[in-house]
Amino acid sequence: MLQGKTALVTGSTSGIGLGIAKSLAKQGARLVLNGFGEVEAAKKEVAALGVEVEYHGADMSKPAEIADMMQFAASRFGQVDVLVNNAGIQHVAKVEDFDPARWDAIIAINLSSAFHTTRLAIPAMRKANWGRVINIASAHGLVASPEKSAYVAAKHGIVGLTKSIALETAETGITVNAICPGWVLTPLVQKQIDARAQNEKISVEQAKIELLSEKQPSLQFTTPEELGELAVFLCSPAANNVKGVAWNVDGGWVAR
Ligand code: NAD
Repeated sequence: MLQGKTALVTGSTSGIGLGIAKSLAKQGARLVLNGFGEVEAAKKEVAALGVEVEYHGADMSKPAEIADMMQFAASRFGQVDVLVNNAGIQHVAKVEDFDPARWDAIIAINLSSAFHTTRLAIPAMRKANWGRVINIASAHGLVASPEKSAYVAAKHGIVGLTKSIALETAETGITVNAICPGWVLTPLVQKQIDARAQNEKISVEQAKIELLSEKQPSLQFTTPEELGELAVFLCSPAANNVKGVAWNVDGGWVAR
């Protein structure tokens, strides 16, 4: 379905981003990967699906590096047709103890980076009269939890950004939507499980069960593969008129 198209997924060396990159590659899209850590392993996993893969190591907190990445993608593959804004970090602390530098980093990486990638991707999408912007928000884009002020603010912000740009592009072949996962067992969440196990002096397994039962009625983690399949649907012709949604995949989290 995505042969001849280029997808750029920020933060795609791990977790949800890598899962989505693989789902898009299975549909034939060329991939531009981004993120830190296990770069070579991620490139290998995606290339094994038989598509061309490039990597750019832009730091999503740095607008100049983001601009360089978008230019790099255009120079290698012509343009970005599917943009997945996924890179994100978390920090948990009461607001009075929240390190202002962590606040700035979360707003920059989880929210402002999507503004920069999108503003640079939209002109070519408009010319082609086709494009998909998929923002990985969170259940925390729809409801809040304590001690996550920056994350909740950024995720609510990205849902707003999604709606606004969906309206700006509503009469074109571009769609802009958000996916709002509940708990997905990735390194980002494993850190929170480990911290809970340590603080409460319980096993990691027990911490995992407590984490799920607090928020996610299904008591099951959502998987990167499931989110990848939703991204594929949003890229499909069936989703041509799906614009500005914030689609929760959260085991019932926000239904309570
Ligand atoms: P993860 O830690 O497994 O992956 C994060 C990715 O972002 C990695 O590739 C990392 O290298 C990259 N990254 C981090 N900082 C970066 C920066 N400054 N510049 C470029 N890349 C950077 O986390 P994940 O759980 O897969 O999270 C992916 C997205 O999904 C995030 O936006 C997160 O908020 C969101 N999300 C996750 C969950 C969950 O339960 N895991 C739930 C809802 C939403």
